[in-house]
Amino acid sequence: MKKVTIKDLELTGKRLFIRVDFNVPLDGGQVSDDTRIQASLPTIRYAIEKGAKVILASHLGRPKGKVNAKYSLKPVADRLAELLGKTVEFANDCIGAEVEAQAAKLGDGEVLLLENLRFHEEEEKNDESFSRQLAALCDLYVNDAFGTAHRAHASTVGMTHFVARSGAGFLMEKELEYLGKAVYSPEAPFVVILGGAKVSDKIEVIENLLKSANVLLIGGAMAYTFLKAQGLPIGKSLVEDDKLELAKELINKAKERGVSLLLPVDHVVAKNLETAEGLRECSVANTAEDEAGFDIGQTTIKNYVDEITRAKTIVWNGPMGIFEKESYAQGTKAIALAVADSKGITVIGGGDSVAAINQAGVADKVSHVSTGGGASLEFLSGIELPGVKALAE
Ligand code: AMP
Repeated sequence: MKKVTIKDLELTGKRLFIRVDFNVPLDGGQVSDDTRIQASLPTIRYAIEKGAKVILASHLGRPKGKVNAKYSLKPVADRLAELLGKTVEFANDCIGAEVEAQAAKLGDGEVLLLENLRFHEEEEKNDESFSRQLAALCDLYVNDAFGTAHRAHASTVGMTHFVARSGAGFLMEKELEYLGKAVYSPEAPFVVILGGAKVSDKIEVIENLLKSANVLLIGGAMAYTFLKAQGLPIGKSLVEDDKLELAKELINKAKERGVSLLLPVDHVVAKNLETAEGLRECSVANTAEDEAGFDIGQTTIKNYVDEITRAKTIVWNGPMGIFEKESYAQGTKAIALAVADSKGITVIGGGDSVAAINQAGVADKVSHVSTGGGASLEFLSGIELPGVKALAE
């Protein structure tokens, strides 16, 4: 279902509340990485150009419902003002008479950033009275914070019931477009690459994508649960013994559905992760009892890259090994480069794979890098995100 977007709203002279994701890292009272602020600029600039009175709101960190200067959004207001090249007013709270007066005074095209929403515990509780107070600040509502769309909070769900109209910002729209296309109408061959620490975090994603994927490539520690389930020796590699049966079921399901599920055939092992004692590359079948696998090997890389090269749609979530360490980063790097080279639609979902694609220096070569880790995993699982459901259709 198509969502109303900011482009569908008549913005001129209206008080527009934009829920943004300004949950940025701070260092010494300064924004140390402004990627998330930059990501919201197209929506904010558009609203300014259209003459809206722009009210921005976000959470920052986990202040747990209490005012805490450490999590103030004031440094973000300063950085945003630099990026926009115009004054950004700052409100010392996100609700209340003083903030309402500030919002009412805004001229067309002016910008006000509210203080951290999570200074009030009512935000995460999706409290009705708090939601009404947020809604009282504005005429229209836009959500551009995909990263929190999997949470039903006052600023993502509650307040949408009390505004005249609600819609998606450009960042939210882009997330829904790319993730939606991958999940619901992928062009074949659709290759899904999953890695990372645990199978248990990605069961729903696997179950859901087995419906539409043609190929499933599994790497990282989660591969060992599948390998062990097939009776292969995995030494001391990380494994979830309580998920062996489930891994077998998933392998069978893939077979029934004609999805080819590929597992590593070789890997980089060591007797000790830190010292890299006994580091070598070997076939999985030759893994010794005192060895653990920390990266995929050359043959596996080749197998996976072949599939990636043929793909028309690719979704990648989770690293192929302990990519934070140089000795175990080759697999993840090779996959990142292959995904970047793909001519198909490429979607990178959240967290570590985003770090990996940045590390490989090719983030600008993929179609879409999702800004939300948890939210993108839930979306890939086929769950309708509450913050998306709340937007008008
Ligand atoms: P996740 O948060 O589930 O995407 O997992 C990411 C983490 O999995 C990263 O910090 C990796 O270092 C870790 N990881 C990937 N492969 C392995 C492996 N073979 N053994 C242990 N940890 C791994």
